[in-house]
Amino acid sequence: MHCSVLISGGGIGGMAAALAAAQASCRVRLFEKAPAFSDVGAGIQLGPNATRVLHGLGLTSALKHAAAVPDTLTIRSSDTGSTLGTLRLGADMLARYGAPYYTVHRADLHALLLKALPRDGVAVKLSCTLQSVTQTLASVRVQTNTGQLIDGDVLVAADGLWSPLRAQLLGDGPPRLTGHLAYRALVLQGSLPPYLRSANITAWMGRNMHVVIYPVRAGQALNIVVIVHGKVSGDQASWNHSAHAADLKTHLLGCHGDLRELLEHTDSSAWRLWTLHDRLLMQGAHQHAQGRVALLGDAAHPMRPYLAQGACMAIEDAEALGHVLKNCPPQSVASALQRYAQARWQRNARVQARALRNGEIFHADGPVRWGRDTAMKLLGGKLLDLPWLYGYRQTL
Ligand code: FAD
Repeated sequence: MHCSVLISGGGIGGMAAALAAAQASCRVRLFEKAPAFSDVGAGIQLGPNATRVLHGLGLTSALKHAAAVPDTLTIRSSDTGSTLGTLRLGADMLARYGAPYYTVHRADLHALLLKALPRDGVAVKLSCTLQSVTQTLASVRVQTNTGQLIDGDVLVAADGLWSPLRAQLLGDGPPRLTGHLAYRALVLQGSLPPYLRSANITAWMGRNMHVVIYPVRAGQALNIVVIVHGKVSGDQASWNHSAHAADLKTHLLGCHGDLRELLEHTDSSAWRLWTLHDRLLMQGAHQHAQGRVALLGDAAHPMRPYLAQGACMAIEDAEALGHVLKNCPPQSVASALQRYAQARWQRNARVQARALRNGEIFHADGPVRWGRDTAMKLLGGKLLDLPWLYGYRQTL
């Protein structure tokens, strides 16, 4: 008998987990609190460690059509505009790691995951919040916001940064504020003068800020992410995003003309603002699974976006979950989830740590900044390539 899997949350992590579990012959029910899957979000970079998994899930062709395939990642100084280092992506990444480096709109990736879910194996229920879970040795039972009780063999909490299921399971308080803000905008390449369009990734390094620009929507649009130090009070849902975008100009005053010009071509209504949160690095397997409940993606290991790997790690988690649930009888779920947790927590902790460190390096000032620029000029792509990250293969 195959497992009955309940999934809380239909983000990239929940969707990838649903697909992986369905392909492992589980019966899946996914619950999403939002009334509809919307187009919100922005671009995400997908390293070969994640595209390899997505290919394994059968998404090779769909992904190729939705994504852009940048040839290079170039690091530039936001003061002088000079190039500090270049990492070759495109064919080089494919040759080195056997899978491509893509940039994609989150909503496009989400849509193709949703489309790939088998109708007979996966039921998706919208407007349904999973509030709490109880478990016995034999099953899990979740309670929804309407008081409904639903039973299954496994619960996967893929309910993101503010996961109420994590709060219940680990009781370790809310995520921490990083003091960093992310402004994100999407600009149609056709609306830009030709010299501002790009098929590649550019990261601009400044003092207490950096900017990353890359193509999405099969190259039709440019995704711009500006990360600065700062604080915005009040509830994100009530913010006037365009008004906050005016602050952006002050953060970019001393920046190189090429960068300022691109931002001047970006309509102020295009900007959306996020306050960035994370958690301390994962400490052990108990933070990934307990009994019949597994945590996955941001619910388990929210991280700073400076390695562009949060969604990639959720996708890797999903692959591992699919592996352990394959041919797993319902009575063996707890030991299967232990294998999942053991396989994932150190990898996720390492990626969280590297993302944290990258933030310090990207935003550095003084001697650290000088050291960074010198090292990048000397070592270039070698410093940016991370075989332990991009070449990872699940060993379960
Ligand atoms: P989420 O996307 O948060 O999904 C959680 C889902 O659960 C939501 O749909 C929510 O509505 C639902 N939900 C919440 N509570 C409940 C409940 N109780 N019941 C039912 N449903 C519920 N990652 C990359 O890999 N590459 C990048 O380039 C990249 N860039 C980034 C740039 C920025 C500025 C930021 C902020 C993040 C970036 N990330 C990137 C990280 C990435 O976006 C996240 O790590 C990833 O989207 C997390 O996916 P998730 O499914 O775990 O969580």
